[in-house]
Amino acid sequence: MNQDIIVVNARQNNLKNISLRIPKHQLTVFTGVSGSGKSSLVFETLATEANRQLYSSFSAYIRNKLPHHEKPEFESVQNLTTTIIVDQKPIQGNSRSTVGTMTDIHPMLRLLYSRYASPSIGLSNAFSFNDPTGMCSTCQGLGTTTTINYDRLLNKEKNLADGGIQFTPLTNSSWQFNIYLNSSYIDKNKKLKDYSEEEMNYLLYGNKDIEEHVVVSDTGKVKYEALIPRLERLFIKKDLNSSNKSVKEAVESITSSSPCTHCDGTRLNDLARSAKINDLSITDLSSMELSELVPTLREMKNIDIIPSIIEPIERIVHIGLGYLSLDRATPSLSGGEGQRLKMIRYLGSSLTDMTYVFDEPSIGLHPRDVHRLNEMLLSLRDMGNTVLVVEHDPDVIKIADHIIDMGPFAGRHGGEVTFTGTYQELLDGDTLTGRALNQEITFKEQTRIPTEFFPIKNASTHNLKGIDVAIPKGILTAVTGVAGSGKSSLIAGEFLAHYPEAIVVNQKPIGRSSRATITTYTGIFDDIRDLFAKENKVNKSLFSFNSKGACPKCKGTGEIKMDMAFMDPVTVICESCGGQRYNEESLSFEFRQKKITDILSMTVEESIDFFEGFSFHKKLLTLMEVGLGYISLGQPLSTLSGGELQRIKLATQLDKTGAIYILDEPTTGLHKSDIEKLVAIFNRLVDLGNTVIIIEHNTDMMKLSDWLIDIGPEAGRHGGELIYSGIPKQILNEPNSLTGLALK
Ligand SMILES: [Zn+2]
Ligand SMILES: [Zn+2]
Repeated sequence: MNQDIIVVNARQNNLKNISLRIPKHQLTVFTGVSGSGKSSLVFETLATEANRQLYSSFSAYIRNKLPHHEKPEFESVQNLTTTIIVDQKPIQGNSRSTVGTMTDIHPMLRLLYSRYASPSIGLSNAFSFNDPTGMCSTCQGLGTTTTINYDRLLNKEKNLADGGIQFTPLTNSSWQFNIYLNSSYIDKNKKLKDYSEEEMNYLLYGNKDIEEHVVVSDTGKVKYEALIPRLERLFIKKDLNSSNKSVKEAVESITSSSPCTHCDGTRLNDLARSAKINDLSITDLSSMELSELVPTLREMKNIDIIPSIIEPIERIVHIGLGYLSLDRATPSLSGGEGQRLKMIRYLGSSLTDMTYVFDEPSIGLHPRDVHRLNEMLLSLRDMGNTVLVVEHDPDVIKIADHIIDMGPFAGRHGGEVTFTGTYQELLDGDTLTGRALNQEITFKEQTRIPTEFFPIKNASTHNLKGIDVAIPKGILTAVTGVAGSGKSSLIAGEFLAHYPEAIVVNQKPIGRSSRATITTYTGIFDDIRDLFAKENKVNKSLFSFNSKGACPKCKGTGEIKMDMAFMDPVTVICESCGGQRYNEESLSFEFRQKKITDILSMTVEESIDFFEGFSFHKKLLTLMEVGLGYISLGQPLSTLSGGELQRIKLATQLDKTGAIYILDEPTTGLHKSDIEKLVAIFNRLVDLGNTVIIIEHNTDMMKLSDWLIDIGPEAGRHGGELIYSGIPKQILNEPNSLTGLALK
């Protein structure tokens, strides 16, 4: 049964009818520049097809509850096994989900305390903050209490009808808001500052002697409920992590939350916290760093279940997450931390012959810790699984049993398999990846000398130990250190608080619309539509598929989605416009013998020649410069990777001066051969008079920076100190720096 996975004629996205074999029960790493087709093959073809086939074997009832996948484009795929994607998406979870609950370690501690703690207080649910018998009644087990900030909720200079209440989830809902506007005890046209005490009380808290029924719509009356109880009931007491983003932001804007004073943020009631083993309560254990928890549990002698509790904790410590504690809320974990915790769960699983798929698992890991990741990938393989990894980090590529290199370049210049074989064969062969891996990056010689600094004094956010750090102005600085050392606390916490004008260029999706493209985001599309309008003497909106230009049948999407309850969704190309998104009238106009759709299917690279001499030509050159020449002008932003989005955002900044830019791991998704191009962009930003601060684990990037700030030496309470600040090369002389060690 040791056949290969066989793919025949895969055509998803830019894949060029490729056929290949992937060995089972081995570790295969997929390499190639971003946009070369790695993800189209691994995620969109293999993983999607495996899940689609798996789901189709379930009953209709179950199937209807699972995500529906469209069949990827290929001729055949054989010998797939059940596939699990271990990605870096934030761990799904509400405010009640912690490291302890998601790893199932907390239930084991509860069992321990219910059996061995004194005084004995009952069954294990008496120690659960998600159970009424264990939770703190003040915060209902959330550990935080939320209070309304009246100055932010009310604008006393205004009346109710015109902005007096600053909370849109309420004021945007006409019938909810009508309770107040139509109350006969409230004057909606009177400024709030002119309210009598009695009137204000009625608005905020009500009056138990008055029972009012207010007309809220054509059809109904409701009983008056005062503003504060209503907000608390409908918004504040709800779990914000399960609310939609705009409601969450609105609630956060009128409230402040602080640790619950009754339980000190421990979530448990007094009784649960009174039960102790070795003078420690269950919350004492939950708040310890895991690396400290292991020896503490070992002290609890002669208890049969201790070894089985220690085992999973040691696994977490071993992967380099020993600085986490069990009470850490999962929504606050980084993508990389979450991914490694998920991995531990699978390592504890006794299922075999699965296929595990990873997307850049080295992200967020200091070079010192990559070997721990490698060990986990290899043990997953040794348990009888097939492991597929998309990766750019040479230290991970090195351990592959088999490498599949995609390319040769990106977009339509990619989509082919350029190499298969071992690491040594890759080094000896002539591919972009092989050549890049052979190239040794040396320390930058002519580093810029900083003359001014942004001082940060006594930084103590999270684990930072009251350190003074001076961040250079007007040069390229890399902030380094192991995961959990305090890099983000320093930059995202302290630095941003002191210098809020800094611009964070992140990898998050741009906007919400699936219709946004590289040209709409950069404003180029506007200029192009102007050209068409002027040339043909017609209205500009005819050339927008979001507006008058839209095909009436598909409303400008180019496709018709048929989502049938018990079948896979099928997207068919709109037969009216043939997928072109535009109506016939719009397509009858041309500019230099090209229709608007011809323009949108050009790549950035192709459009540079075509639009030579026009005002927006410079913007196209900038996109080319940030390495996005392969993207077509009409490609939806929703199809781009986080790294690509980050570079598009950078491209729109390249004419600014005097700004501060912060980027977290900008090398994410970047092939080794493209790192120097990214450095060139940073250098250009710096030459324009800007400051660039990057948080990085990539050693090439560190060597090519002007300045390093190293935080450590280790993570959590063993970190938080300034280890080094100076030019990159000199860090080699700093004996306490793990970063210096990795750069040797
Ligand atoms: Zn509490
Ligand atoms: Zn259409």
